[in-house]
Amino acid sequence: MFTRRHFNAGLAASALAGLARPARALDYRGPNVVLIRFGGGVRRAETIDPSGTYAPNLLNNLAKRGVLIPDMRIEQLDGVDTSHAEGTLNLLTGRYLAYRDVGSGFGIDRLEPTEPTLFEYFREAFDVPSHEVLLINGEDRPQEEFFTFGMNPHYGISYRSEMLSLHRFKLYRTARQLADPALAIATRAQVEKERAELMAADHRGFAPEQSAPIQAFWANWRRDYGDSGFKNPRGDRLLTALTVRAMAELRPRLIMVNYQDPDYVHWGNASHYTRAIAIIDEGISRIVAAADGDPFYRDNTVFVITPDCGRDANPLMDVPYQHHFNSRSAHETFALILGPGIERDRVLDRPIDQSAIAPTIAATMGVRAEAAEGSAIDAVFR
Ligand SMILES: [Zn+2]
Repeated sequence: MFTRRHFNAGLAASALAGLARPARALDYRGPNVVLIRFGGGVRRAETIDPSGTYAPNLLNNLAKRGVLIPDMRIEQLDGVDTSHAEGTLNLLTGRYLAYRDVGSGFGIDRLEPTEPTLFEYFREAFDVPSHEVLLINGEDRPQEEFFTFGMNPHYGISYRSEMLSLHRFKLYRTARQLADPALAIATRAQVEKERAELMAADHRGFAPEQSAPIQAFWANWRRDYGDSGFKNPRGDRLLTALTVRAMAELRPRLIMVNYQDPDYVHWGNASHYTRAIAIIDEGISRIVAAADGDPFYRDNTVFVITPDCGRDANPLMDVPYQHHFNSRSAHETFALILGPGIERDRVLDRPIDQSAIAPTIAATMGVRAEAAEGSAIDAVFR
């Protein structure tokens, strides 16, 4: 009988055998790409609308350097949920509903892609090591730890991205702690328990070891921030810190940054939402400035900034700004694309579908997102 366990064991065996890369994989000479999820669900009204924006850097500075698409839409399809994991996977695969819920047992949806992600298209075509393709995730979204590769048999784990998140750091830290013979017995039991919980979050039952360059990254992080978790930045500021540091130390060619904190508005306080937008706006500023200041990235990096989903605009709700009711504004997003080869200071004012993002990024990198439903947005290219 075919079971997930057998399937995973097969994957593990081929990974251990050092699955040979096809001979056609080429050196990559195209631009770097930074895909920034302006995430946690944001409305146009608080981002790209000049009268209500909490993202002045995006709107007044960065937009001049690229093409602003003010009318990006998530298609109204049966079964499409305007939410974070779903929207993120739409961005990464160029399709709707290209995922399945594998369940977690903790009441959290746990989606995994069923079609190839941008990471896989890119690494299948080019000889790029896993640590140069990074997904940068928040600290409390274990359900987003599984977007590094899909289940399409022609792609998959051999072409995965690696991930930087506190979850991954803790996996690294607990392994180092347990490898230390001087660890006190009482502490050892505690660390073993913590590690077991971290491992249990991986429903695939097969977590590839983090590569040596990623482990070296975490060793530096641990040297600077220690083990307590109290010294490092938190929330979306953590994602900015991880991204800027990773650019300097790992030289990634493709990064996705999954900002998320505007979603704290689910707990009812609108200022959590608007403040989180401002923090993402600052973070984007810092990441772009880091690229501008580094010859490896300067004039050689395409940025794509776009939300996972919108949010509701119904003023009669007890808790405003929800996004699960399939309202029009929850389907309304935007995108800003800038960098070499992209038009400058332009507004592309026609409806563009969210499924166009992945094929557009693929086109900038010289690959084809063959399973994508959307097509590349030709009008953004110079
Ligand atoms: Zn939400």
